[in-house]
Amino acid sequence: MHRRKFIKTAALAGTAMIGLHQFARAWDSEPSLDAVMPVLFVGHGSPMNAIEQNNFNATWKALAKTLPVPKAIMVVSAHWETVGTKVTAMAQPETIHDFGGFPKALFDAQYPAPGSPELAKETAALLAKWQVHEDQSWGLDHGTWSVLMPMYPEAKIPVYQMSLDVRKKPEEQFALAQDLYELRKRGVLIIGSGNIVHNLRMIKWDDTAFDWAAAFNTTVKSLINEGGNYSRLIQYQTLENSKYAIPTPEHYLPLLYALGLKTNKDKVSFFNDVTTNGSIAMTGVLIQSA
Ligand code: ZN
Repeated sequence: MHRRKFIKTAALAGTAMIGLHQFARAWDSEPSLDAVMPVLFVGHGSPMNAIEQNNFNATWKALAKTLPVPKAIMVVSAHWETVGTKVTAMAQPETIHDFGGFPKALFDAQYPAPGSPELAKETAALLAKWQVHEDQSWGLDHGTWSVLMPMYPEAKIPVYQMSLDVRKKPEEQFALAQDLYELRKRGVLIIGSGNIVHNLRMIKWDDTAFDWAAAFNTTVKSLINEGGNYSRLIQYQTLENSKYAIPTPEHYLPLLYALGLKTNKDKVSFFNDVTTNGSIAMTGVLIQSA
């Protein structure tokens, strides 16, 4: 059923076939009925992906149609860094336009999904040992809504965010993510939203990847496929080219949240494996029950 629907969507999307072809492989077998929710890492790139028609968001949209309908969505966005880990706990989070220099249509965009104060409370309780705090001041930043607007345009599914704690080491953030596993069983779709390669100071106006960007993206995908404990990906500063690919960690770290939620029962596939502006990898990762 899922697969049939997916193929129809792929045909409609047309232009996004490079990314969609990869999903088709991922869906060679039907998911089992008791499968836990998949987990995503999404390379979000430009905020314009919220509203323009392109291959990236066509792929996101098609992907959403293949997933079980989530009871709620929790996003770990590159664009919310705090001291201490926080979860948004308001009933109606506002759409935050946390960027400048884009068309008015993007500033006018709203994503009026409800929040989930109940799940925020439960998430904080689940992570009691990490001292996670409920937050009433943030909302949905563009790392969240620019992805969800194409994926779930009706904005009916409750959405909440978890912040990146600037004081936690990468290994602590990975371990925290492992403790979120219960949410997968509860039907919550967890999305890490960032970019595996993200260097705004080196962007150029063509889409040929810099050699170091392509090499780093390939290294990360290989290490994801290797599985194991992901120690090399957690210690990302030791990877070749990381200084260029990850000049600041916030767009990379959401990947560690997605990987922390993977179990040995999951399989991994990639989508939107394309680099834009030379130095922004749009590569996404789908983690789901084998
Ligand atoms: Zn971003």
